[in-house]
Formats: sequence, C-alpha cells, structure tokens
Amino acid sequence: MNFGEKKTKQTLRWAMVGGGRGSQIGYIHRSAAQRDGYFTLIAGAFDLDPDRGRDFGMNLGVSAERCYQDYRTMFDAESQRADGIQVVSIATPNSTHFEISKAALEAGIHVVCEKPLCFTTEEAEMLRDLAESKNLIVGVTYGYAGHQLIEQARQMIAAGELGEIRIVNMQFAHGFHSDAVEENNPAAKWRMDPKVAGPSYVLGDVGTHPLYLSEVMLPELKIKRLLCTRQSFVKSRAPLEDNATTLMEYDTGAVATVWSSAVNAGSMHGQKIRVIGSKASLEWWDEHPNQLIFEEQGKPAKIIERGMDYLHPEAIVEDRIGAGHPEGLFEAWSNLYARYAIVIEAKNKGDLAALEGLHYPDINAGVEGVRWVENCVRSADLGGHWVDYQ
Ligand code: NAD
Repeated sequence: MNFGEKKTKQTLRWAMVGGGRGSQIGYIHRSAAQRDGYFTLIAGAFDLDPDRGRDFGMNLGVSAERCYQDYRTMFDAESQRADGIQVVSIATPNSTHFEISKAALEAGIHVVCEKPLCFTTEEAEMLRDLAESKNLIVGVTYGYAGHQLIEQARQMIAAGELGEIRIVNMQFAHGFHSDAVEENNPAAKWRMDPKVAGPSYVLGDVGTHPLYLSEVMLPELKIKRLLCTRQSFVKSRAPLEDNATTLMEYDTGAVATVWSSAVNAGSMHGQKIRVIGSKASLEWWDEHPNQLIFEEQGKPAKIIERGMDYLHPEAIVEDRIGAGHPEGLFEAWSNLYARYAIVIEAKNKGDLAALEGLHYPDINAGVEGVRWVENCVRSADLGGHWVDYQ
C-alpha cells in the first residue's frame, strides 16, 4: 500500500513544456508528478504565448527567471546550471513532440512525453536510440496504465486464470465531437489538422490508450497483421478520421478489435478492454475503474474490487486509500509518475536490479503506439485491406 512515503532518495528537479493556462492536460501532469513528492516544478515554457506562460508559471510558484520564452532557451539555460532541471514533461500538441523530446534528450534531460510520441516510427526509433545512447528515459503518459486493476488483470492473465487467450476487444469511443465543435474550440481544432495532429485523429488520440492497456495485460502478444477502416463522419475533418475500426491478428492466433471514435453520440469516454480466454474473461472500463469483471464460463460472474486483500500483491502495492473509496485517473497517473521517478533514479545510479520487474509506458510503448497508427492508416488508405504489421 502507498502511505505517501517516497521510494527514491532524491526529489527530481522538473519542468514542463506546454500544459499552460487553459490547456486540457497540463493540470493532471502537475497533480500526478507532485502528489507524492517525487518531482518539484522549478521551470517551464508553459505556453506558446511567453507572457501568458510566465504569468501562469509564476502563479504556480516558479520563479520569473525560470519561466522561459521557449523550450530551447530553457534547455540551454537549465543545462548550464548546477541545479538545472533533470526531467521535463511535454504536454504540447502532437506536431511538436518529436522536436521537443529530441532537444531535451540532446541536452541530457529525461523526458515524459504525451502521446502520440511523434508522427512516424522512424522518428520514434530515433528518439529511442538517442535516449539509449544518453542513458535517459522517455516515459509516455498512457495514464490509466497506472491503475492497480490493470496490474491485477496482468497478473491474473499471467497466472493462467483465463486459459489460452483468444480474443481482445478494445474501444475508446466518446461522443464529445459528434458535431463540428472544433469550429469554436481551438483545442479541438488542432486535433483535426494533419499538420498538427499527425496522420490520424482518433487512432492516435484515443485508440492508442486501450492498445497500451492490452500491451500491459498481454505482454507476450505480437500483432501479425491488421485491417483498419476509418471515416470522417463530420466531412470537414477529412482526411483525418473521427471514427475507426481495427481488426488485428496476433502471432499466437488470437484476434482483437479496437474501436476508436469521437462520434459515439451520447457516450462519455467509453474506454474498455475485454480479454477473453478459453476458460474465462476479464473486462475493465475507465468509467468504473474500481471494478474488474471476471467471468468464468459456467460460473456466476465476479466483481473484483480495488483495494481488497485478495488482489495480487503487485496490484495492492500502489493502493492509496483502501477499498471502498474510489480511485481513478488521478491516482493512476500519480502511480505512473512515481514509476518514472524510480526508473530515473535507478538509471542515474546504474542500478539495474531496481529496474527489474518494474514496467511503465516507456519509449517502446511510445514507438509501438506510433507504429500501430502508421499500420492502421496504411491499411485504411488502401481501402481497408489486411496489411502485415511492420
Ligand atoms: P491544448 O491545446 O489544450 O494545450 C496545449 C498547451 O501547449 C497550451 O498551453 C499551449 O499554449 C501550449 N503549447 C503549444 N505549443 C507550445 C510550444 N511550442 N511551447 C510551449 N507551449 C506550447 O492541448 P491538450 O489537450 O492539453 O493536449 C496536449 C497533448 O496532450 C497532446 O499531445 C494530446 O494528445 C495529449 N493529451 C493526452 C491525454 C492523455 O490522457 N494522456 C489527454 C489529453 C491530451
């Protein structure tokens, strides 16, 4: 159980690029990173508008001289200070992730980057090589991956409780963009512009989330081929899709579907994963994060509750409040940031033993998300053909 005691010796000197006033995701990064005292926010280039970014950073308690006009100035200045930043979180629109991550790594700074990591697998692999050569980490914020019931599912599947895995059903299908909200909403608008969003909208924006949950739960499965179709139901969004369906075959013979959508009218987030084996199935839904449904063929269904002693030890270890009270997005993100801090300290010390057994959405998760989108787009643009996974 997590009683708020740190598992690292140091508190990391941390900065943000983006995540400024009014941004969607900046607050959750700050809440998650600072909740357990692993990170202290000491610098930032928070906003495309430097004055607004400085005003915002100072309001958060960052000194005026460390609220920078842009990220390059920040990396240059901070890497010359003895007390300079050790890690930066990047919460800007997608088109900037590659160049900002690259600049941070080149300056010797660990990176936590938003998804999708970049636009092409080639770029993602360049970042992986660069991070490896500098002994730095790149974490990617697939936030719910830090929820303890995702860990419980991983452990149950590894223990064979589902039998042989046959089918994985995934979706992240919300209804918030059922009509052209982007006409009056700049934060929605960039998501539908290929120059800023990249080669996809919903595949990269939402589909990669349950995809990563499946990678956590089923680390052995490798995609062999897939077929994707994508549509722009709001026509002005073309060529980017607001709905996509992906069928996948794994090298074990198991199969999967991923439904990615922003036009699932009436739905909230609708992020779900159902893993079906030869004996039983598990299902988890982000809107009911405290329950994992376990259904064994021929037996009454079980609801596995977060925080209970019957969970696998690996799932209990990150519990914060005990059973009965809800834990969700904020705690899951905080667990991820805690893991990033532990890995960064272990990397800095060269402590390989500490790294064993710890998993988190790392650079490989980032690369795989980009690779999956690339393959989906390739299949869809061929008219919905099966393509070998590259
Ligand atoms: P947003 O448009 O609401 O905010 C973007 C922020 O970045 C703004 O403060 C803007 O001023 C700033 N910015 C833009 N370019 C900058 C630059 N070059 N330097 C400094 N600041 C800059 O966007 P958002 O919805 O917060 O999304 C940001 C990223 O987070 C996207 O990549 C998105 O896909 C991702 N995201 C992830 C999740 C998740 O669950 N992991 C959820 C939402 C968004």
